Amino acid sequence: MERVYNFSAGPSMLPLEVLEKVQKELVCYGDSGMSVMEMSHRSKPFEKIIQGAEATLRELMHIPDNYKVLFLQGGGSTQFAMIPLNLMNKNKKCDIVLTGQWSKKAKSEASKYGKVNVVASSEDKVFSYIPELDKSKFDPEADYFYITYNNTIYGTRYTELPDTGNVPLVTDISSIILSEEIDVSKFGLLFAGAQKNVGPAGVTVVIVRDDLIGNAMDFTPTMLDYKTHADNDSLYNTPPCFAIYVAGLVFEWVKEQGGVKAVQAVNEKKAGILYNFLDESSLFKGTVVPKDRSLMNAPFILPTEDLNAKFIKEATSAGFVNLKGHRTVGGMRASMYNAMPVEGVEKLVEFMKKFEMENK
Ligand SMILES: *Cc1c(COP(=O)(O)O)cnc(C)c1O
Repeated sequence: MERVYNFSAGPSMLPLEVLEKVQKELVCYGDSGMSVMEMSHRSKPFEKIIQGAEATLRELMHIPDNYKVLFLQGGGSTQFAMIPLNLMNKNKKCDIVLTGQWSKKAKSEASKYGKVNVVASSEDKVFSYIPELDKSKFDPEADYFYITYNNTIYGTRYTELPDTGNVPLVTDISSIILSEEIDVSKFGLLFAGAQKNVGPAGVTVVIVRDDLIGNAMDFTPTMLDYKTHADNDSLYNTPPCFAIYVAGLVFEWVKEQGGVKAVQAVNEKKAGILYNFLDESSLFKGTVVPKDRSLMNAPFILPTEDLNAKFIKEATSAGFVNLKGHRTVGGMRASMYNAMPVEGVEKLVEFMKKFEMENK
């Protein structure tokens, strides 16, 4: 069977070159005589793998020296608890902007450990925009200010960051990491579950400023304390070795594409192709306010549920898969992460045009 165009929101497409490299090295990695899956996490070859992955990521994201890069487990969702446990320990307060399911989950976890101030929310219009922020609602005594940079489900993204002064800005970059340039120095902490744009599920990347490490609440489990992992270079216990290895190959691949800036240009092109069509179409409609549109996740709808279902069915048969929207939104969603080639989006739009002609 041929590979399909996979528009999944996550786990999602990996670059074919990376999959082929993994296949080649799967049984015998380098001159180790074994698979990465069989290797001690304290062995020389694995040490090289994890250090190499970190070095390449630092280079790609221009991560300053006063930030640690951690490779953790528990997915993006564990960070919803880990962040308050480690950061909400001065005034027991945080600010948050609600832009979808992921920030709501972050809010509900943080509420277990302190007071959460909702600065703004776009829930009134099904999270179809990024709300304007009124600085007078920011709490200058908040221990951190939390945003979801790109909203995977609703397809919105920040194009302007809030100025939080001395309050550390914390962000979930699960579905935007390495897809466009992000100024790490503007943040206290950034995190991403790998399975959207970095590699297979199982590893979570946390980038955290040194001064935010070592202040965890007394009852914080050892495994949920950033200090545990920072002091041990992510090798306190067995890390998700294989996922880190594949992520390292993806980082190398991004570098070979010309780095984040070059990949961003391709992502802007892909998103442009789809959004331009949505704006012209008399049948398909984008659901997000144009200025807040995500480059990675594009939700869209047809006039009726029957047409949505028909489109998804026919698209799947034609080799465009995982286009069904999130269960809370319905309709369709095309996720166009780094590994999705321009050709995949071009062909999808051709298919949508044909569908429109046939269903007018
Ligand atoms: C997928 C996703 C998560 C959840 O990640 P898990 O690894 O499944 O816990 C969190 N935030 C965003 C923005 C996501 O897209």
